[in-house]
Amino acid sequence: MEHKRKCITCGELKPKEELIKITKEHTSGNVVIMPNSKVFGRSAYLCYNKDCISMAFKKNRLNKILKSGINIDKETLLSLAQQKDK
Ligand SMILES: [Zn+2]
Repeated sequence: MEHKRKCITCGELKPKEELIKITKEHTSGNVVIMPNSKVFGRSAYLCYNKDCISMAFKKNRLNKILKSGINIDKETLLSLAQQKDK
C-alpha cells in the first residue's frame, strides 16, 4: 500500500509527492523546505495550495507543529505552490 501523508492544514491524505515537506532538522534545528533524504527531523506536510499554506501560518501553526521558533519562509512555500500550478 502506498504511504500517504497528511496535510497539516486541511487534513487530507495524499501521496508524499503531492505535498510540500517541511522538516526541522534534528541536529541543527534549521527548518528545511523540501529537504533531501539526508535531512532528518520533525516534519510537516502541506498541499501545493495557497490556502493550505496561508492557513499553516495562521496562529503560528506550522511553527507549533515543528516546535520551531524560526521564521519559516512563507514566500518560498507560495512560490512552490505556484510552480506546481503551471
Ligand atoms: Zn491541504
